[in-house]
Formats: sequence, C-alpha cells, structure tokens
Amino acid sequence: MPRIVVLDEATANQIAAGEVVERPASVVKELVENSLDAGATAVYVDIEEGGLRRIVVRDNGCGMDEEDARLALLRYATSKIRSAADLHRITTLGFRGEALPSIAAVCRMTIKTRPPFMEHGTFLRVEAGKVVESGSVAMAPGTVITVEDLFYNTPARKKYLKTPATEGGLVGDCVGRLALAHPEVAMRFFHNGRQVLATSGSGDMLEVVAAVYGLDLAREMIRVEDRSLEWLQVEGYAGRPGIHRSSRRHIVTIVNGRYVHCLPLVNAICEAYHTMLPAGRYPVAVIAVSLPPALVDVNVHPAKLEVRLAREKEVSRAVTAAVRAVLQGSRRSIPGVIMPEGVSKADPGPGQKGSAGMRAGLQADLWQLGEAAPAYRAAPPPFPQLHYLARLGPAYLLAAGPDGLYIVDQHAAHERVLYEKYMEELTSRGRIGIQRLAVPLQVALTYGEASVLEEHRELLYSLGFELDFWGPGTVVLRGAPAGFPGEVGETFLRDVATALEEWGRLPPGEKLYQRLLSQLACRMAVKAGEEMAEEAARFLLRELAAAQNPFTCPHGRPTTIHLSYRELERRFGRSSNRPG
Ligand code: ADP
Ligand code: MG
Repeated sequence: MPRIVVLDEATANQIAAGEVVERPASVVKELVENSLDAGATAVYVDIEEGGLRRIVVRDNGCGMDEEDARLALLRYATSKIRSAADLHRITTLGFRGEALPSIAAVCRMTIKTRPPFMEHGTFLRVEAGKVVESGSVAMAPGTVITVEDLFYNTPARKKYLKTPATEGGLVGDCVGRLALAHPEVAMRFFHNGRQVLATSGSGDMLEVVAAVYGLDLAREMIRVEDRSLEWLQVEGYAGRPGIHRSSRRHIVTIVNGRYVHCLPLVNAICEAYHTMLPAGRYPVAVIAVSLPPALVDVNVHPAKLEVRLAREKEVSRAVTAAVRAVLQGSRRSIPGVIMPEGVSKADPGPGQKGSAGMRAGLQADLWQLGEAAPAYRAAPPPFPQLHYLARLGPAYLLAAGPDGLYIVDQHAAHERVLYEKYMEELTSRGRIGIQRLAVPLQVALTYGEASVLEEHRELLYSLGFELDFWGPGTVVLRGAPAGFPGEVGETFLRDVATALEEWGRLPPGEKLYQRLLSQLACRMAVKAGEEMAEEAARFLLRELAAAQNPFTCPHGRPTTIHLSYRELERRFGRSSNRPG
C-alpha cells in the first residue's frame, strides 16, 4: 500500500481554511469582497460576539442561481477567471475560488441568494462543507451569507482567537478599510445589534474617512490627486503634518480597489513627510493607486493582503510627489476646513439626532422621569437642618438634629446632592456645564467602547463630556463637568460605554439617564476615607437637607442613619414606662 494518499476534499478544504480563514475578520473580508465582485451597491455586515457566534453579510449584488450556488462551494470554483492567463488581468477582488469552500469547511453556513431575473431565491444549509438542506426562498435580489459557530470543528484554531471584543474590533477595522477602498458602495457594520459604521455610498472618500476615523481627523485631511502619468492614478487623503501617530497603522494603501499592505507605498507616503514629522512618528493617510492589472501581481499572499507592483519605483516616486505637493501647498495657504458636504461639527452624522432634536428628546425623557418615579411625587419625610458635630472615622459625619443623632455617610450624601444638581441642570438647561481641561486627556478604549461612545457623542455632551474620536479605540477627553477628576476619566468612560451597550438599541430613556447620572455623581463625590474640612462638611449637610430625596443615594443606599431620642431612650433603658 502506498504511504502517500491524495487527501479527500473535506480535509483539503480545512487545510486551505487554515491559510485563508484565520479569524472572523478574514471571513468578513472574503465575504464582503465577494459582494463587491458581485456588483453590490450596498453591503451590510452584522456580527454577534465578535463574529464567533454569527456573521451575516448581505448584499444587493448579482446573486446566483441554484446551480452556481452549489458550484461556488467547490474548491477552485470561480466565475472570475477562466485560465492562468487571466491571472495577469485581474479586476476582481477574488479569483482563486477557495474562500467559500474554505469558510464553509469550518462553520455552519447558510446561503440565500437570488439573481434579479429570477422570482425566487435559493437556500442552502451547509455543514462542514456539505449541503445538508436546500430549498427555495422568497427574498430580495442579492445574497445573504450567514456563518455560525466559526471553528466549531477545529478547536485548535478557536483557542487561538482573542476575546469577542477584540475580534469584533478587528472586523470593524476590516470593514472600515473595505469601505475606504470602496466609497461608492454603501456599507454598514453592526456588532451585537449596534451600528458601528455607516457609509452612504456617495463615492466621497472623505465621508468614509470621517465615518471610520471620526470628524475631527477628517477635518485634518488634505485631498491628494495626481494623474500626471497616463497609466497611473493616485488619489486619497493625507493628514496635515500636525497630526501624527506612533505607528504606521494609520497609513492605508489601496491598490486597484483592494486594500493591501504595500510596504513600498507606505514608505513612499512617509517619504513625502520627510522632516515634517518628529522622529519616530508616522502620518495618517489613505492613498489609493490605480494602474493596469497587468502591472499588479495579486497572487502573492494567501489572504491577498499583499501585492507586488511592477514599476514599483515609478509608482513610489509618483505617490511621494503627489502627497508632498499638497503638504507644501497646505503650508502656504491658510488651511481650510475640508469637509464632505453636509457634514459639520453640529451634525453628528448618520443615524443620530441633531442636537436640538436630542435636547427635545432628552427633556421629554426627563419629564417622564418625574412622572414615572413616585419618589419625586410622594411628599418625602422632611429632612431636618443638622448641626455638624464631628467626623467619625474615615467616612462618616456626626450631626445633631431636632430629634437626636444623625450619622451621615459622606460619600453617599455627596452623591445624592450631585445627582440632583446634575438632574436639575439637565432638565432646565438641556445639558451639564462643561469645563475645558487645560491638558486634554487621551484615553485608550477598545474599539467597541470607543465606537459606542462616539455613537452617543451628543448624549455625552449633554452629560458635560466633550470628546474627540481619533480613529478606532483612541478617544481624547477635552472637557468635563467642573471638578471632574481626570484620573478616573478612563474608568468612567468605560463604565458609560458599558451602560450604553447594555441599553442596546433602545432610545435613551429615563433609566439610562438615571444610571449615567448616578455613575457621574459617584465618580465626582468625595470618597470614603477622603479628608473633609469642617466647612465642607457643614455645606454638604445643608445641601443634603435641601435635596428632594435626601435619605438615599442614587443607588438606593441610605445616606443617613438616624438615632432618635426615643431610640436612644429605649436603648438606654429609659423608656417612659420605666422609672428613670
Ligand atoms: P472567488 O471569489 O475567488 O471566485 P469564492 O469561493 O469566494 O471564490 O466564491 C466563489 C464564487 O461564488 C464566485 O466566483 C462567485 O461567482 C460566487 N459568489 C460568491 N459570493 C457571491 C455573492 N455575494 N454574490 C454573487 N456571487 C457570489
Ligand atoms: Mg471570493
């Protein structure tokens, strides 16, 4: 018996999957590239738990009939090339015919697909690469591919994955780059039901830059365009020299509509900034080059993330020149604000209410709050004016009242006072006052956290926080409510992101405000163990007495323990029916 055997197709596909399908982001990349190749003008990516649980890619492209859909699952089955000669004139993103079978080998996949000229779509359920169910389905023209339980049958690969948040962040980065490479296609990315990226498909790359990296960065980008060579087109956006990063990660290179890591191009872009940036710093740029397919070898990397360029030197020189020209131009002229039409600071972007609408909504919510929370309507028992006596231990204030002794928890009391003060500011003015920080504070958050905060930028503003978003994961705190302790900025913003995430897609409502304000009050309040001057203690007691709901902190714990004279008498055995 020979020792060498030809592996069966299922095994071959799993081996191929090892190269092509490294993680959820690689699945998304392949599926979206297929959608783009299918001529889609809109592509939606929806993932759950970082894509480990589910990935859905939906497009409005050309679709497949049943025969093609079945063929697509076979290795080396492609509609994009016919022979090796075609490898030199590739204009599509895919060409090897191995993505679908490789992905299908390591997940549970369903394919729903309908060409526009057919009345019904085809439905295929595929498990470990085999079609286990098929039928017809009513659907709009296009294709929907669902990938569930990725790597369920290859536990070794699964172990090597990062947390869902990190994997989700990588998917987000990947969709962002695909969107940058294709501003003419409307793309949306949802993670756990929350929209984290949306582009309109207007064809304006700057709009996509704003969607991916944030408005503030987009404002600092200068248009690059060069067609001086007949066979080469260079276009994109380069950041002003004033903004720079510690790594090259923010230099995106696109070759013939394919985002790739093209080192010669990255170097050419950096070269254009020569001496304009501090040593060891790198620019932010998105540069796309288009050249005849015969000059680009795309078949050099398993995931097609690299390409080899013929006439590399000429291309590099052209890119350096094009970028340098606009940088020098921008130093001469007064740097104008270049923004896509209809995008301005006041407009928080698609999917968000404008500030006026937001404020109206907020006030409606707060109004409801008063209605819904009986604590605000039922007359609370009166809280007396107290006479401050002393501090007790690290956390308590002792005070005398008209009826005995009061022990006040300094933190809980301060929380209550601040909570009501903020609530009052919100209802009366629509927002909490902002104090600009002398030194803006950079906070490093995960992509997921940062994107949630960015999505709720207006809401945070109403809470007194002014934030800048510097691309995935980097948030700069510019302003906060007066007295906000900078050192808790990171933890606080993370808490807020969590709260916002838990609220999912519900509109911001009373409970959300209650929770956010109590978190804010908690961070701002004096801590147990913190010194409190006598004057501050007296002031706090006065404020507490004036509060609407002085007996509990916003989390519902007591602020005060009251030992009445009657209680004291009882404890001392002095009750009236016993002789003294
Ligand atoms: P490749 O993209 O290299 O051709 P794939 O395995 O990714 O190989 O896809 C196989 C074939 O399936 C494609 O050539 C295409 O004809 C078809 N296909 C895949 N995805 C889609 C889609 N979203 N819409 C229409 N056809 C698709
Ligand atoms: Mg493909």
